[in-house]
Amino acid sequence: MNPTAQRPKVIIIGSGFGGLFAARALAKAEVDIRLIGRTTHHLFQPLLYQVATGILSPGEIAPATREVLARQENVQVELGEVTAIDVEAKTVTASTLGVPRTYSYDHLIVAAGAAQSWFGNDQFADFAPGMKSIDDALELRGRIFGAFELAELAAAQGRHAEARAHTTFVVVGAGPTGVEMAGQLAELSRRTLKHDFRHIDPRNATIYLMDAAGAVLGTFDESLQTRTRRAMERLGVKVLLGAKVVDVDARGIEYLDQAGEQHRIEALTKVWAAGVAASPLARQLADQVGLQVDRAGRIPVQPDLTLPGHPDVYVVGDMAALDNLPGVAQVAIQQSRYAARKIRASLGGRPVTEPFSYFDKGNMATISRFRAIAEIGKVKVTGFPAWALWLGVHLVYIIGFKSRITTLLHWVVSFLGRGRSERNITEQQIFGRLAMDRINDLPQRAARNVGWTSSDEA
Ligand SMILES: Cc1cc2nc3c(=O)[nH]c(=O)nc-3n(C[C@H](O)[C@H](O)[C@H](O)COP(=O)(O)OP(=O)(O)OC[C@H]3O[C@@H](n4cnc5c(N)ncnc54)[C@H](O)[C@@H]3O)c2cc1C
Repeated sequence: MNPTAQRPKVIIIGSGFGGLFAARALAKAEVDIRLIGRTTHHLFQPLLYQVATGILSPGEIAPATREVLARQENVQVELGEVTAIDVEAKTVTASTLGVPRTYSYDHLIVAAGAAQSWFGNDQFADFAPGMKSIDDALELRGRIFGAFELAELAAAQGRHAEARAHTTFVVVGAGPTGVEMAGQLAELSRRTLKHDFRHIDPRNATIYLMDAAGAVLGTFDESLQTRTRRAMERLGVKVLLGAKVVDVDARGIEYLDQAGEQHRIEALTKVWAAGVAASPLARQLADQVGLQVDRAGRIPVQPDLTLPGHPDVYVVGDMAALDNLPGVAQVAIQQSRYAARKIRASLGGRPVTEPFSYFDKGNMATISRFRAIAEIGKVKVTGFPAWALWLGVHLVYIIGFKSRITTLLHWVVSFLGRGRSERNITEQQIFGRLAMDRINDLPQRAARNVGWTSSDEA
């Protein structure tokens, strides 16, 4: 590579779907790209739940960005958190381990995605972690497998109420992620672990899938919602709809039902799969160009994905609000490719004039092994054919041949057999990044409710 000062400088923020596909779409362009990512990997978020439940390893869904782009000579990959964007000065400031630096750009593609949102109750995060990163998935893996270990110990010592609470799992949010997570928890306890313990029967684990809305998979067709709910119930998942979470602590979760009555479930392991909030960079940009972010913190972009008065700044993916498009990978991929096409065209002096238009390739969600639902336009597919479709689509989009092969092997082990190759957990995961170690600091109320006291644990 022979970068020259004359080549336009493109900065891409983020190494997720938007960032990576934008960089690839500029592979042949005469530009110098700097891709700044907060992590060293590209993350395939749709399969995080499989890392959390021991099917896949982190490496399979999170290849190193540097490796993925190694052969693309016009890209420089850089680890760093972007802290500031100045659209007037056309600069981006990033920081790594507290060391800041500022770069200027000719074109900017912002694809910093979204984080989990606890709807203003960030204190819930300690006890009901979300699932947005590899750290999150590994923490959940530690909590899930750790919960069975603690239940075994409790049951061996005759503390059965405690064992029950340890093997009660609550998934909050009945969208695709929540459904997939609850389905996997059911399979894990009913199939994978059924012979592995001596004092508990993992098949008796209780799994709740809870949502404040009145439907499972609310964005799908009603017939698919009903089918999914029934399938979940057949798997033994208790579906609680119209259930609004009002409190979460180390030992349980409290919610209001549709009649406004408050209930408590004693459950050690809670998973938060509800709500996202766009990267704070969206608000920073909105403030600079006089726009308001929406309720999810997304910035409204122009039909060509740029900001008003700044044709050189594109915002794509989960951070951008346009035509009520959903926060899904296909939107981020297609938007990033469009932004890259516009940049390439501007270099050749043939500007793209048509606005971005989204081609909806459909939506799908897995329920359990061999069972999924898919909606492609008016066509609805369910059961095994939908699952086979899901498998194929995910294999195509997993980045890298190596990852595809090992993922397929792990799926054979888990779906044809009973095993899971990635059940290892570390002490740090068992005790969680933040919360599990607080278990010794039981709120008295929780201890009373499960009928044992802290001293029982000594
Ligand atoms: C658990 C889960 C399951 C999902 N399942 C599906 C599914 O089945 N199908 C589907 O289509 N979609 C699914 N999605 C949604 C899909 O993953 C997102 O819509 C998609 O990742 C959005 O792409 P993006 O590039 O906008 O953001 P992301 O892919 O989230 O990428 C954002 C990138 O920006 C980086 N970043 C953030 N802030 C900064 C900063 N300040 N500086 C530098 N870098 C930064 C992040 O580290 C990340 O690399 C799922 C999401 C989750 C969390």
